[in-house]
Amino acid sequence: MSLSRIAKAKIKTKAATLQPRKIEKIIDVSRLERKLEEIMSRDHKEFTVEEKLKALYVLQEIDSNIDKIRTIRGELPMEVADLEDELAGLTTRAEHIQEEVNSLNDQVNRKKQAAKDAKELIKKYEAQQSKVKNNREFDSLNKEIEYQNLEIQLSEKRVKEFAVDVVAKAALHEQTIAILNEKQAILNLKKAELDSIVEETQKEEEQLRKISEKARTIVDERLLAGYNRLRNNTRSGLAVVSIQRDACGGCFNKIPPQRQLDIRQHKKVIVCEHCGRILVDPRISGDDVVAE
Ligand SMILES: [Zn+2]
Repeated sequence: MSLSRIAKAKIKTKAATLQPRKIEKIIDVSRLERKLEEIMSRDHKEFTVEEKLKALYVLQEIDSNIDKIRTIRGELPMEVADLEDELAGLTTRAEHIQEEVNSLNDQVNRKKQAAKDAKELIKKYEAQQSKVKNNREFDSLNKEIEYQNLEIQLSEKRVKEFAVDVVAKAALHEQTIAILNEKQAILNLKKAELDSIVEETQKEEEQLRKISEKARTIVDERLLAGYNRLRNNTRSGLAVVSIQRDACGGCFNKIPPQRQLDIRQHKKVIVCEHCGRILVDPRISGDDVVAE
């Protein structure tokens, strides 16, 4: 293999993967907690439908964020495992190339030794020629010398060929090691990133779980069962959605005006006719909603 071909075969690594991932603060936990405490502090025997829906909406926000945290946390271990596999493959490859280099070097040495031995023999035959008694013996030694000269030529030719191979293989080895080091650096970074993300998100998830428990005490069992069923049936995990531009925030089908009015009053639980999701007015979030 020529050196230029080796250079062309160089594997490009993505520099972008070296950037550590940042996890944005996903949710304002204390804001949700305040909302629930406000509902719970009210002095009455049973929570109203509106209060239950409000708590359910909080629960949806919490669960959506736990989903998000798990997605972030779920991708990194796979990336780390993939990189570890890749590194193991590269290490084996580098070892094989090194073995080939060693074997070629052995062959070079053997051929050099063969040439040396042939030269010694020639010297010996030439010394013998000075002592021969007849032409037949002289010619016979001449043939031996000729033969050894061919041996030298052949060995020297092989030494040159092997030397070219050694240079190419050594370059390939060097290049493989360079890629290996680069990948190792990425792996180290990913591992550190994974550790910090796991630590950070576990704390956040724990906090969210605590508030989730509070929200569950406000929402009644029947509503909670419906909510859980809806969450399990949708890929997005959205069970409670608000009206957005006169449509369901989950499936985007239009909601008739009268139904929108009913939803806004929060006197009873209303589900979308198309996707079955629980519908609420955007104002239930308690955030300032810009009127459309
Ligand atoms: Zn819908």
